[in-house]
Order: sequence, then C-alpha cells, then structure tokens
Amino acid sequence: MHAVIIGSGIAGISAAIRLKVKGYEVSVYEANSYPGGKLTEINVGDYRFDAGPSLFTMPHLVDELFVLAGKNPTDYFTYIQKKIACNYFYDDGTTLKGYAEPNAFSEEVERVLGVSKIKVLDYLKGCGERFSLTGPLFLEKSLHDIRTFFSVDVLKAVMQLRKLHIFQTMHSVNAKALKHPKLIQLFDRYATYNGSSPYLAPGILTMIPHLEFNIGTFFPVGGMHSITGALVKLAMDIGVHFQFNQAVQEVEILGNKTKGIKVNGQLIHADLVVSNMDIVPTYKELLPKVKQPQEILSQERSSSALIFYWGIKARFKELDLHNIFFTEDYQQEFDLLFNKGEVTDDPTVYVNISAKENPSDAPDGSENWFVMVNVPSDQGQDWEAIIPKVKANVLRKLSRLLKMEIEALIEEEDLLTPKLIQQRTSSLGGALYGTSSNARNAAFLRHANTHSKIKGLHFCGGSVHPGGGIPLCLLSGKIATDKIKSI
Ligand code: FAD
Repeated sequence: MHAVIIGSGIAGISAAIRLKVKGYEVSVYEANSYPGGKLTEINVGDYRFDAGPSLFTMPHLVDELFVLAGKNPTDYFTYIQKKIACNYFYDDGTTLKGYAEPNAFSEEVERVLGVSKIKVLDYLKGCGERFSLTGPLFLEKSLHDIRTFFSVDVLKAVMQLRKLHIFQTMHSVNAKALKHPKLIQLFDRYATYNGSSPYLAPGILTMIPHLEFNIGTFFPVGGMHSITGALVKLAMDIGVHFQFNQAVQEVEILGNKTKGIKVNGQLIHADLVVSNMDIVPTYKELLPKVKQPQEILSQERSSSALIFYWGIKARFKELDLHNIFFTEDYQQEFDLLFNKGEVTDDPTVYVNISAKENPSDAPDGSENWFVMVNVPSDQGQDWEAIIPKVKANVLRKLSRLLKMEIEALIEEEDLLTPKLIQQRTSSLGGALYGTSSNARNAAFLRHANTHSKIKGLHFCGGSVHPGGGIPLCLLSGKIATDKIKSI
C-alpha cells in the first residue's frame, strides 16, 4: 500500500513517519530542493540563521516519533531547557526577565513591577488548568469526530466552563486578572503565538503561557533546523522516500476514492494521500473538481512577519536567545494588523539570537540577529514602501533601547517577507499559522484532518486542525493518521 505525502513541512514529516511505522510504503513529494518548509535555515555570509520558527516548546512531541519508530531519540536529537524564556524591554526603559519557572518569574515580576507574587502564581495556575481541561480535547483529537464529544474530557471541560473564559477576549481576561499594564501586555503577547490578536482571540487561549512558564522552553542543539534534520534522518532510516523539486499538480480522485497524485504531468498511484500544503491552495490547485468548503477556505488568515536577518558585529550581554521590545500602544498595533492590514510605526520587535546558545552561528565577537515584526498577511499591500519604513522604525527603537547605533553594526543582511513565505511554502498570504484564532469558533472552522467523503484523503499542517506552530503541526500529523489502520 502506497501513501503519498504532499510537502515536507514538519507536519508532513510527522505523518510520513507515522504511516511508515503503520506499514505503508511512503513517498514525500516536496516542491523545494530542501525539506522542512518554514522550519529551515539560511546562511548569510559567515552567519547562520534559523529561517522561521525560533521558539521550541513541547519537545516530547518530537521525541515520541523516534520512540514510535523504535529508535532512541537522543541518538538523533538533543535539546537543552532554557532558564529564561524571554527578556522583555518596555518602551520606558523597564526590563524584565521572563524566567521559565513560576516561582522565579513571579519573584521577578514582584521585584520589577510591584505586582504580588501570589497574583502571578495564581494566574499561571489558571493557565495550567485551562490547558489540562482543553488540551486533550482541542489539540490531541479530531473535532470532526463525534466520539470526541462523548468523552470524560468533554464532561470535565463542560463542568468547568466558567474557568475556560470562552466568552471573553484574552485581553479582558488578562486585564481583569493582572491589572498592571506591563504584565497585561506581556501575557497578551501570547495571542501572537498563533498569529492572532489578544483583543479578539477568546480567553481560553490564555492557556498558552502554561507551555512556557509551567513546562518550559527548549533549544535544540545545533539550532531549530535540527528538528527537521533529525526527523528527516529518522524518516529515511526507516525507509521513507523523499522526492525534492517535485511540486504536486493535482490529487487524482475517482468517485469517492483517492487514486494518486499528478507530478510533472505523470500520475503516481497512491492508496492514500496526506496534503501538508496549505488547505486553501490544496483545494484550489490540487482538488479543483472537488466541492470547495467555502466557509473554511474564507477564514481570516493569521498574521505574517517581516524578518530582517542581520549579522551584527558586536555582542550584547543584556540580550538572550529570545528578546521582546514592546510597542507603547499594543491595541493600536493589533488594530492596524487585523482591522486595517497595516503596520504600526512603533512595532513590537522580537530579536532572536541563536548564537547565544550555538556560538558557531556567528563569527567571534558577533551575533546573528533574527529581527521580526508581526505584519498582516499579504493582501496586496505595497511592501516596497512598507519594508524600508518598518526597518527604519525598528532600528530607531532598538538603538534607543539598547543605547547603541545598531545600523552601523550590521555587516550582513537578508530579508523574509509575507510574499516570500508564500512563494517558499505555498502558505496563502504568507500567514505563519494558517488561519487566525480571532473568532470564538475559529477552532471549529479549521479543516478536518480527514476528508469526510473522499476515502484516503487526509490533511495536516498549520492551516488545518489543530493549528499552526511546531507542536500543533506535529499533532496534526498524528490526528491525520491515527485512524488509519496498520497493514
Ligand atoms: P510548512 O512549513 O508550511 O511547509 C509546507 C511544505 O509543503 C513546504 O515545504 C512546501 O514547499 C511544500 N509544498 C506545498 N505545496 C506543495 C506541492 N503542491 N507539492 C509539493 N510540496 C508542496 N512555530 C513555532 O512553534 N515557534 C515559533 O517560534 C514560530 N515562529 C515562526 C516564525 C516564522 C517566520 C514562521 C514563518 C513561522 C513560525 N512558526 C513558529 C510557525 C511554524 O513554522 C509553522 O506552523 C510550521 O513550521 C508549519 O509547518 P507545516 O507542516 O504546516 O508546513
């Protein structure tokens, strides 16, 4: 039995490994000359950068694939746990260390912001409760299988509905619980972890900080791209075939059955097909004759990003692996992003420096700065005009807060834009996380991982259930293949 995976994003690789373990002959067709999709690396001069994701949580979801395939994870992939999840810089010069441990973090908040330690610990406990109540339901199972709703997990969640804050926004939950504007801003930021706005996304998403503060953040030895490298090696070791530079043109359906794919005009037989391509182009380009689920395909896209990869010929001891420089007006930043499709003149800036953990990523005395600003998905904006303006605003902000003229330190530069993200991964509009979670019912409007009418047609990746980000993409590969019987 032959299974074809369209795309070697992290979800596609996860699905490939799982199907191989189930006994299928598995071929992955990838349009690019390299695997990983967004989870890849680039080299610019003497600097190496992780091109896309930089924050790694829930590493057990990577480990479990090695165990599933009967291998020892540490033979392929190792990671360290970070003591500090993120360094925060506020516009008035206040700085705060985001310790990835409740006690240390709450003490830091009490010391810097004067908010009682108890209040912070209570808030984080609530995040953990929301995660335990809904994680098994929303993240690990299909929302399109009726059996999911007749379970003890659902009963538990329904009985505690009040605690889930479904009917409030993240911001209103945070404002009520935390009171202090700087602390509210810090926790509102977690809406961006799935490309949404805290002023629109439902309060249930205040479960996200649980991952960082109560479980921890991690850094893969060698950099984020080694997640892709290790999983591709595992897949190859167990016999998955990868075909690079092979863009799939169509999925062949006969009656209500999947028959194969078309590549370079040739039909390749497959008993089942898993598409890791964004769900919108999957339907529009690969399944043009199949009924299009219009409501799902027209959901709002998540935010995208502008990334400046800068080789910086200096070292900054006040910076760590993850650093955030907040805007003064978060509400305006999100209003422009999601309501007007624009970028504020005072954006929140994220600086990731993998050389802090992996010194060989930059020459001696230098640092590799991945400088990211959230921007709307591409809707035809004039990026030629927007990019230099954003760059100037970012440089002004970083130079002021770090008390150093940053532009003079840049010796190498590269750029990633919403259009390039779309070009390199097929993600519509260059959205980082598929669709946004700005609506209360967003989770239910992500496409299912299995087609309800066509046998042998499955979907995984950031644009379908349960959503974007490395952990959820890995889980989508699991949900998409869980119900497929071993042979
Ligand atoms: P993708 O990475 O979207 O890859 C899809 C693959 O399918 C591509 O390789 C593409 O070439 C291939 N493909 C598409 N169409 C075809 C076709 N017709 N034929 C053959 N191949 C095809 N997540 C985190 O967890 N932490 C972070 O810190 C984080 N930061 C991010 C920062 C940036 C700049 C970006 C871009 C993303 C970030 N994300 C982060 C999100 C995360 O990268 C994605 O959710 C995840 O990697 C998406 O994986 P995927 O499986 O959906 O596939």
